Amino acid sequence: VGEFGSPTSSRVFVVANQKGGVGKTTTSVNIAAAMALRGLSVLLIDLDPQGNASTATNIEHGSGTPGTYEVLLDGMAIDDAVQQAPDIPNLTVVPATIDLAGAEIELVSLVSREQRLRQAIDSYVESHDVDYVFIDCPPSLGLLTVNAMAAAREVLIPIQCEYYALEGLSQLLRNIELVQRHLNPDLDVTTVLLTMHDARTNLSASVAAEVRQHFGDRVLQTAIPRSVKISEAPGYQQTILTYDPTSTGALSYLEAAREMTTHYPQKEQ
Ligand code: ADP
Ligand code: MG
Repeated sequence: VGEFGSPTSSRVFVVANQKGGVGKTTTSVNIAAAMALRGLSVLLIDLDPQGNASTATNIEHGSGTPGTYEVLLDGMAIDDAVQQAPDIPNLTVVPATIDLAGAEIELVSLVSREQRLRQAIDSYVESHDVDYVFIDCPPSLGLLTVNAMAAAREVLIPIQCEYYALEGLSQLLRNIELVQRHLNPDLDVTTVLLTMHDARTNLSASVAAEVRQHFGDRVLQTAIPRSVKISEAPGYQQTILTYDPTSTGALSYLEAAREMTTHYPQKEQ
């Protein structure tokens, strides 16, 4: 497998789904790692106070470590909060600390409270060579997620191949429309990724069929299989790409990442 091609300008993705446990963080870190290991320059922004994306990429994120909290609340430049992932060349990460837990409320009284992440990312990508930016969101549609949607051009929605997979999606899509109308007309749902897919079950097949029916060619051909190794990796502060590079989980994230680098679905009008 060779290197992936660079986009002509930085592509900024928000990884969103207000359901918890659908694979947002797993997808953010593993797609980011796969692209970085294939030679692309990738910035991962951890916007979930849980800090799971920071843990999985082995990034220092104890309370007080500069991170997304300082970027959002203090106007800190991303330059001053970003860390190089120790095990993955070309991957830089803005960590989330527990301090971010209060940000949802603290943001309310600030000027341009919805555009603070956008301002920070815009000025960072202007002066750095960044191919892809991924923003890992918390499981809610509050001001943190709104900041991410205002900052991104593309939405990546991970969908778990399980019962109730589509529940809540209409609310997510409605919120995306509101952001398009009021904050960011350039935002578009370009990419849907099926996660925790079990090829042996009818359930996975029927969820996948329903999602493909609804989202068409925005759904990546590659589905991520359910795999114990994928869930083990964060416990070793690793992505699946470094934890077990030849596992089916690693290969499927690599393939999904490769697809994304050549996947520019038509804008909906
Ligand atoms: P979210 O960020 O949407 O809350 P996570 O990415 O944290 O979801 O995933 C939820 C849980 O499912 C985690 O424990 C994670 O390790 C596990 N998980 C994610 N993807 C897979 C997979 N393909 N196979 C098995 N477990 C997975
Ligand atoms: Mg998460």
